[in-house]
Amino acid sequence: MKSPETKMTASDESVSSMTSFPTSKRFFLVLISPDKPGQLPENVIHVTDQTAVVEGNINLFGFLLQGLSEAEQNKAVSHIRQSQYWVHPVYTDNTNNKNPLLDGHKTLVEAMSSAQQMQELLISLKLDPQALQTDEKIMLYQYIREQSELRPVLDRNSKRLYRYPVIDVLSKTEELADILLIDLLKRQTLIPRTLLDRTRECPHCGSAHPHFIDVCPQCESIEIHKTAALHCFTCGHVGPETDFQSPSGMLCPQCNTRLRHIGVDYDRPLTQYACQSCHHIFIEPKIRANCLDCGSENLPEQLIPHDISTLVLSVQGRMLLRSGASNESFTNVKTSNYVVGAYFRQTIAWSLSIQERHPDIGFGLVLFNIQNAQEIIEQIGALRAYALFDEISLRISELQRDSDLATRFGEYGLWIFLPMSSAEGFANRLKGILSTLNIPQQSNIQAEIHSLQCPQDIIPKTTVNDVMAKLSKKVQKHVG
Ligand SMILES: [Zn+2]
Ligand SMILES: [Zn+2]
Ligand SMILES: [Zn+2]
Repeated sequence: MKSPETKMTASDESVSSMTSFPTSKRFFLVLISPDKPGQLPENVIHVTDQTAVVEGNINLFGFLLQGLSEAEQNKAVSHIRQSQYWVHPVYTDNTNNKNPLLDGHKTLVEAMSSAQQMQELLISLKLDPQALQTDEKIMLYQYIREQSELRPVLDRNSKRLYRYPVIDVLSKTEELADILLIDLLKRQTLIPRTLLDRTRECPHCGSAHPHFIDVCPQCESIEIHKTAALHCFTCGHVGPETDFQSPSGMLCPQCNTRLRHIGVDYDRPLTQYACQSCHHIFIEPKIRANCLDCGSENLPEQLIPHDISTLVLSVQGRMLLRSGASNESFTNVKTSNYVVGAYFRQTIAWSLSIQERHPDIGFGLVLFNIQNAQEIIEQIGALRAYALFDEISLRISELQRDSDLATRFGEYGLWIFLPMSSAEGFANRLKGILSTLNIPQQSNIQAEIHSLQCPQDIIPKTTVNDVMAKLSKKVQKHVG
């Protein structure tokens, strides 16, 4: 992760009394307003349109939109959220605009104080907002907004019915936004706060657009209608009332008994529906939930309930960001028996110490690394690239035994520890698997596999760092 780049402004370097940053560089609040304001505090810049600022290079800590129409505000905030200033607060003087990309209604004085607090949180993390992956961006956005929640909006055109506009704008594509949302929830980096609604999703395609239709429980015809029914006491026949009507009065269509007195000859059962196709009479129709997106026919109980909530950054998510974000949970190649790096090293150290007394108890160590992961993502898109990395992870998991351990190496690599087994054998099987992978045409995956065997490949009294360095030194393009 790169450290923040130094950005200098053209203006003087004196520290304004309004700023309280541990830096000599001045930061500004940008006031976007069509009207020329009166006297402004020193660290407020006034512009009539966001374009010049967004495309410029200014040390700023926030924006205030004043006197703009709602459409102009929405346009300005979208532009800012897609710019290098994506993380900074954008306040408005308009109490009615509920656009989730905005940071609420504030006066100039309130905006300055609130934006400065966020700026201090941002500086305290020592992250470069421009160098972050999209999932890290979403986390950082929430981190500096402390108690604020990511609010979903109802969008009938969206497959899942609800969208999180902040995640959408930071992800750029709807596909990536969906993957990231699922991933961040699965990792419990984002957690639900307030439950707002519940949708039912198609078990085949995840669409939250089921179309419910009631059908005959016997023949599934949709030609059913509500009807009064009669029950003949003589033969037990149950049928629509219309079937019993004849010019000479009520006759059972099955046994021809004349039905005169309710409670004596017949009664009215609870049945409410009749099927025109098969003449079945029933109380409750069967409900089918047809998916409007993929066309699959499901039963309502097959739909997957999905709670729609506001989301907040979890304590774990905050810790991840503070520890530098490029962390265990950010690895893109995950396998079974995955452990954190410290535990992995400890296990190797323990094995080395056992081996000193029992030289026959050895282990293998394999380092696997995808060298051109970034290129693959650029060539075939993040969605297909991550699916490919998942496939590789799955195949590696299949090769592993229960006693093997794995931990991350960089963002697209793995260390694999193989107690009492051959690293070379594992490496060869892994090479075999990579050659049979179904890889999208445009991409050519370049992976490297290095291995060593203990005690054969090491000198006595070696340390865990020496052992691991022996392999990591061979890596062509270090990504960690
Ligand atoms: Zn009858
Ligand atoms: Zn029927
Ligand atoms: Zn579907």
